[in-house]
Amino acid sequence: MVKFLDLPGQYESIRREIDEAIHHIVSTGSFVGGAAVRDFEAAFSEYQNTDHCVGVANGTDAIEIALEGLRLPKGSEIVVPANSFIATSEAVTRAGHRVVFCDVDPFTLLMDIKDLRERLTSATAAVICVHLYGSPCDMGEILDLARERNLRVIEDCAQAHGAEWRGQRVGSFGDAGTFSFYPGKTLGAFGDAGAIVTGSPELASRCRMIANHGRVSKYDHEFEGRNSRLDSLQAAVLQVKLRHLDGWIDARNDVAAQYRSGLRECEQVSVQQFDDQSRHGYHLFVVRAQRRDELRSFLHARGIETGIHYPISLPRLAAYAHLVRAGESFMADGLAGELLSLPIGEHVSANDAEEVIDSVRDFYHS
Ligand SMILES: *Cc1c(COP(=O)(O)O)cnc(C)c1O
Repeated sequence: MVKFLDLPGQYESIRREIDEAIHHIVSTGSFVGGAAVRDFEAAFSEYQNTDHCVGVANGTDAIEIALEGLRLPKGSEIVVPANSFIATSEAVTRAGHRVVFCDVDPFTLLMDIKDLRERLTSATAAVICVHLYGSPCDMGEILDLARERNLRVIEDCAQAHGAEWRGQRVGSFGDAGTFSFYPGKTLGAFGDAGAIVTGSPELASRCRMIANHGRVSKYDHEFEGRNSRLDSLQAAVLQVKLRHLDGWIDARNDVAAQYRSGLRECEQVSVQQFDDQSRHGYHLFVVRAQRRDELRSFLHARGIETGIHYPISLPRLAAYAHLVRAGESFMADGLAGELLSLPIGEHVSANDAEEVIDSVRDFYHS
């Protein structure tokens, strides 16, 4: 049995620290805001090497609030990759802008920068690059393009905790980096949570106000915002887990290295390519596999859990039928039928990884 995710196992490994942190919050009765949230924001911005961190209620709000904080003209076009979770594009629409899909590269599985260039118009105001699966996008190319075309850049880091592009943490290159701490993410809370990181004090303070009713003091509001705050209990849990994060990401990298070498000879499977001068966060280990659905059933029969991220490209979702021109297609559409996420995490032992590799090879007789 190789589980895809083992949250109870992770809890057991850090139970004392977590229980103590939760007890502290419950016994002080400070559930929203307060020291726990401030402490986590400080610790996370230090980890991220950014000046500011604003805790919010979830990773989708983080994108939406960051966009709103940038005060782009209403109805601006914002480019997002065609393979991501719907939250990336949903936030664009919610913030009052227009979604433009850009195709993905079949090898890196990330935003294809050549295609991105072709999607830009005079109405394009920003790009949301997604460091999908924990793999850092080429920030050199994206920032060059952004400078050239005067675009804002938001990095969707919901899957990229701890990932680095050429020695620098993702989330710290663009105007803002947005994080999700959904329980299943690499750094996960015990419920929904998220954060925005930025180097801009103005953007940080506007995001903080938007997330807290446009508040300047308890009952003084400069504008209408909303309620999207980070809970103290979640902040306390995250603060404990942050201390273990790098160790967990190292363990993910060990599993990934084993998969990469074990599957090298298996030609029916190709692993996600990435820049070896960067640090992959390996939230997910994704391959393109021939006869994907059959392979998936075969692995499940052997007790190996897998996932698909994502089975339908964003432009093919019913939610976006109105955005796609007749006959228009994306590389991402076809890729969606080949993607398979193998189990990864600190719960996956070297023996487990070996079992996964052997099973994949057995399936293809390779
Ligand atoms: C999980 C995720 C989000 C949204 O985060 P939530 O905390 O679930 O709202 C956004 N973008 C990507 C790429 C994600 O994987």
